[in-house]
Amino acid sequence: MATASFERPGFSVSSPSHSVSPSIVTEPPPEAPPRASWWSTAGIVKVVLFVLLQLAPLAMIWTGVDWRSVLLCAICYFVNMVGVTVGFHRYFSHRSYKTSRWFRFVLGCLGCTALQKGPLWWASAHRQHHREADTSKDVHSPVTGSVWWSHMGWVFAGDWNDGKLQSVGDLSRFRELRWLEHIDWLPAVGLAAVCLLVGGWSGLVVGFFLGNLLSRHAAFLVNSVCHLWGRRRFPTADASRNNLLVAILTLGEGWHNNHHHYQSSANQGFRWWEIDVGYYIIRLLGCFGLVWDIRTPPLAKLAAVD
Ligand SMILES: [Zn+2]
Ligand SMILES: [Zn+2]
Repeated sequence: MATASFERPGFSVSSPSHSVSPSIVTEPPPEAPPRASWWSTAGIVKVVLFVLLQLAPLAMIWTGVDWRSVLLCAICYFVNMVGVTVGFHRYFSHRSYKTSRWFRFVLGCLGCTALQKGPLWWASAHRQHHREADTSKDVHSPVTGSVWWSHMGWVFAGDWNDGKLQSVGDLSRFRELRWLEHIDWLPAVGLAAVCLLVGGWSGLVVGFFLGNLLSRHAAFLVNSVCHLWGRRRFPTADASRNNLLVAILTLGEGWHNNHHHYQSSANQGFRWWEIDVGYYIIRLLGCFGLVWDIRTPPLAKLAAVD
């Protein structure tokens, strides 16, 4: 079978052309992640904090909702989602474009506003997903696990909560990213403070907490829904699907079967009608010279399979 290979310093992607999902190889594959260690002290603290984050928007009963807080909610949702899809996913996990050191740090901070931990942890878990997609070693598969597990349950698994970073040597060599990983909560606190200053308590609760809740679950849909429901354009070895609704909610992440087929592409929508706002943002950043060498899939190979 023909294979498309891409090489970068410290980062290697091999992408079989059609039927087999690509794999990322930087270090020997890790052992299967443990399914859960719920009852350690750190695990319980994280579960409690996670539940509090889910419940925080209920405080709008007391703070009320006004147009300013709704606008802040939309802005926070957008900032969170851009940080996750343009930063954590398309840059840190797949290096689908190049950027400067300072802008990479900005992207890392943007991703951290979503409260999905730091860029090193996120990329490590995501690369594990691509290596073992929908096998028993996948960190969040709804095929081998449950929908609940793939959507939220896996984030409580002890081994992944303890900061074991695998296959991110190309990222962890940068001091500022290691530092950011230790204070991954700080950018979110900064965003929350802005919401509080601009919109008062309603701005904090509806703007920051509700925006974060919505963006978090939209991102989780990629792991759950996009491996269960939607169209499979490419016969990849995993169960990935293209799902329009998830693509709209996540700025393009819903074209997940496309992405599993050519994971190092900056664009996940492969047709003009496949709305991919994250890619449009990357192109816009390219116009300003903030990013460059934006990777796209080979056109001949795309034409051959559709
Ligand atoms: Zn996937
Ligand atoms: Zn990916």
